[in-house]
Amino acid sequence: MLICGCGRWMHTEGLDESPEAGDGRAWLVRSECLACRVLVGLEAAPDEALSLIDRLMWSDDARHLLERMPPYVAPLVRDEVEAYARAKGQRAVTTVLLGQARQGGAVVWALEAERRLDNVPAPVRAMARMELERTAIERGEAEVTVALMEEVKARYFGIFVKSDG
Ligand SMILES: [Zn+2]
Repeated sequence: MLICGCGRWMHTEGLDESPEAGDGRAWLVRSECLACRVLVGLEAAPDEALSLIDRLMWSDDARHLLERMPPYVAPLVRDEVEAYARAKGQRAVTTVLLGQARQGGAVVWALEAERRLDNVPAPVRAMARMELERTAIERGEAEVTVALMEEVKARYFGIFVKSDG
């Protein structure tokens, strides 16, 4: 946990699992002092970041997905996902956890799709991975396939500069 310069505990205000300044592997935890309204951001590896989170926290990306769901579905999904997170002892609701909670298992990667992802330049790989998993989750699909990659490639031209096909 973090302590503010004023001596009080800081509280978790937000979680960004794909910060712009990051390299795709670190998370950004935002913490706030409720007394003096100081807001700080800490970039850390996910396991470290988890130790800084003081309550159940939706990542910005996961919250964004929730907000895009129909208004009559979103509250149900929120309850379902938070119950799943608690049952798993997780304090961070990430896009991956959201997908797991919704379909009872992680999004898996077809072998060929995984191999192609390895050809994606490192700086955009994490973004590409998330975009693909998110697309699969939104469609209720359990697997990222080459066909899905091709489709997303067409939508986000430039993310996948290399394929070996
Ligand atoms: Zn303070």
